[in-house]
Parts: sequence; C-alpha cells; structure tokens
Amino acid sequence: MARVLIIGAGGVATVAAHKVAQNPDVFTEIMIASRTKAKCDAIVKAIGNPAIRTAQVDADDVEQLVDLFNSYKPELVMNLALPYQDLTIMDACLRTGVNYLDTANYEPKDEAHFEYSWQWAYKKRFEEAGLTAILGCGFDPGVSGIYTAYAAKHYFDEIHYLDIVDCNAGNHHKAFATNFNPEINIREITQKGRYWKDGAWVQTGALEIHKPLTYPNIGPRESYLMYHEELESLVKNFPTIRQARFWMTFGEEYLTHLRVIQNIGMARIDEVDYNGMKIVPLQFLKAVLPNPQDLGENYEGETSIGCRIRGVKDGKERTYYVYNNCSHHEAYLETGMQGVSYTTGVPAMIGAMMFLTGQWKRAGVWNVEEFDPDPFMEQLNKQGLPWHEVFDGDLEL
Ligand code: NDP
Repeated sequence: MARVLIIGAGGVATVAAHKVAQNPDVFTEIMIASRTKAKCDAIVKAIGNPAIRTAQVDADDVEQLVDLFNSYKPELVMNLALPYQDLTIMDACLRTGVNYLDTANYEPKDEAHFEYSWQWAYKKRFEEAGLTAILGCGFDPGVSGIYTAYAAKHYFDEIHYLDIVDCNAGNHHKAFATNFNPEINIREITQKGRYWKDGAWVQTGALEIHKPLTYPNIGPRESYLMYHEELESLVKNFPTIRQARFWMTFGEEYLTHLRVIQNIGMARIDEVDYNGMKIVPLQFLKAVLPNPQDLGENYEGETSIGCRIRGVKDGKERTYYVYNNCSHHEAYLETGMQGVSYTTGVPAMIGAMMFLTGQWKRAGVWNVEEFDPDPFMEQLNKQGLPWHEVFDGDLEL
C-alpha cells in the first residue's frame, strides 16, 4: 500500500496527478487537496478515476495540514502548491510522521529571495524523525540535478563547468503569459543574475548577460543568464565545479512586456493602498494574466532543457550534453496541460515513485542529486520525458 497526498491543484499538480494515476502499481491510494476543492474535483473528473479523493486545505495553516495528514495518513506528501507553503507543510510532516517532496525552494512572501537555508535547516529534525524530504524534484530544479549526478557517476572523474540551458520555443498565441504561476515566475526573472565562479558567487544585472545558444530540433535562441536555485545545491554537492550557470530563453515580445510591467510598478511585491484596501500589485497582475493552465490547447512547439558539462575523465577533457525535448501539444493531449507543467509534474511523480519503491528512502532533507540517478533516469524514458546525449560536441559555452 502506498498512499500519496498531492497538495495544490494547478498546472503542475494536474500533470502529477495524471501520472500518479497512470502508475497504480506504485500509487495505490491518492488524494488531491488544495485551497479550492472544486479544482481538485475537476482534476479527478479529467483523470476519470472516482477513487481519487479530494479535500480542501489552506496549506499556510499548519493546524489544518496536521488535521488532514492525521485523518488521511499519507506515506508521502507531494507539495505542488507554491514555494510559500514549503515550511508549513514540512512542519506538518514532522508533527504527523509523513515524508515530503516538493519542486521549488522556500520563498518568503514579502521578499523574492531564493536559497535552501530555510529548508536545509530541517535536516536534523527529519533525520531524528526517520523521515525523508526530497527537495526540488521538478525539471529545473530536479532533472537538471539528476542529469548532473548521472554525468558525474558515469562520465566524469571531475565536473569543472556546468551550464543548465532551458529553452521554451513554444508559442501559446497570447501577447503575454507565463508558463507557470505568474507571481512566482516574475519574481524569479526580475531578480539579479548570479553564477558560481571559482568558489564564489558573481552577481550580474537582471538578464544582463545573454547570447544565442543552439537547441536541438529548435535552432539558435537568445539565452539569458539568470540565478536559479539548483546552482546552490549543485556546487555544494559537486565541489569540483569551477563554474556553474543557468540560461533561459526569452522572446523580445516577452521581455518588452516584462520591462513595462516593472516600469509601471506592477511587479512590486509590497502592499499598496487601493481604495482603502491593501493589494500587492504582482498578485493583482496574476489575477488578470492568462491562467497558465489554460495555455495548453493552442500551444505549439517544444521545450528543450538540458545540462552542458565540461570536465575530465581519465585525465582527458571531455564534454557532455544531456537534454530532453518536450512537445507542448503532446503534453496537452495526455494531461490537458502545456509542456512546462508537464516537464515539472512528471519528475515530481517519479521522485514520489523513487521514494515509495524504497530507492530514494533516506532520513533527512536532500536535494535530488544526492540520490542514485540511475533508476530515475530509467523512469524518465518510460514516463514521457526521454533524454538524449551528445558526447564531445561543441557546447558553445
Ligand atoms: P499554479 O499557480 O498553477 O498552482 C498552484 C496551486 O497551489 C493552486 O491550485 C493554488 O490554489 C494552490 N495553492 C496556493 N496557495 C495555497 C494554499 N495556501 N493552500 C493550498 N493550496 C494553495 O502553479 P504551478 O502548478 O504552475 O506551480 C506549482 C509549483 O511548481 C510552484 O511551486 C512552482 O514554483 C513549481 N514549479 C517548479 C518547476 C521546476 O521545474 N522545478 C517549474 C514550474 C513550476 P488555487 O487554485 O486556489 O489558487
């Protein structure tokens, strides 16, 4: 018996729920709980399996979570709500003896600040409770770390240079939309850039460094250096890395909209007074932007996310590029969601599978690259995100 509780009912949770339901040999009982129960019920209807249970929960409230966990008694909670809820859900897990998995590191609501320290601080308590917490198990973070661990295990004695390259070459035919939660997405992209170089972080202006990179089956796309959370754990877990960077593609139209949004103050995350009411401009903007879950139907094109790695094996320098391309349309046909939700929800399900089958069960708080990558890589090929390798090619970086 493996009883799993999914928290959240957005794009990522919808994909993860479909994939969990497709693997009944591992996941025997499923519940989806979120702030809006009707959205959980809609996912169950789309999957067509009435045995999946649903519940309403405010995941900012530890007491509500504790009551839910005590009544449903899941073995594992998949936190697919927002990063704001990471700590309350981890607290509830500790109080009720439940294991934990998420796809994004904790962020305080009032400060767009990305670091693992808050969640790593739970390590001793999870160890003492004999519980496993798996952090950052989407695509990036997630598969990006697993690709790196796989490269380190099989192809390199030392990794020296790591570039994570994330291209979305899709077209959703909207003037401006984000591919996952707009509030979280815009907070991330408007941050200053940061990369690891010779033992220290180098800070850059937001999206200041950019260059065209060529993506398989897509071609060249302008790619922008950003800070991304997995860099923090990867340089710690692979200390031979001299330089680690993260690149993401953006179109001109997207960047123009983003610049305007910032210039007119709509990206602000502090409260402003509006007609006697306190509102956060970025949260208001989220309410009027297209819902990422509704982008799937007309989304064309594909994503391509991978790791470009340079290092040494047997005293010789070599390069390695491992990547996945994911079609938005195929993701939509299978789950009703677009490719960005798909590439996040599938790894979340595989991480849960790794834990429930005992392959990634270890008391403590872990980033994905600290586990054996092989069984996860095998499942990526079976569960809809096949990967490809290029040895000793030109990394362009
Ligand atoms: P959505 O905004 O589509 O969904 C978030 C869901 O969480 C909604 O159903 C929302 O409820 C629910 N929720 C929000 N607050 C609460 C709360 N207090 N209590 C209960 N439920 C709550 O986001 P996505 O599905 O796009 O993203 C989900 C997560 O995945 C995010 O943390 C995001 O950062 C992460 N992500 C990770 C990626 C990776 O590769 N690692 C890539 C993309 C996303 P309601 O429906 O009522 O609003």
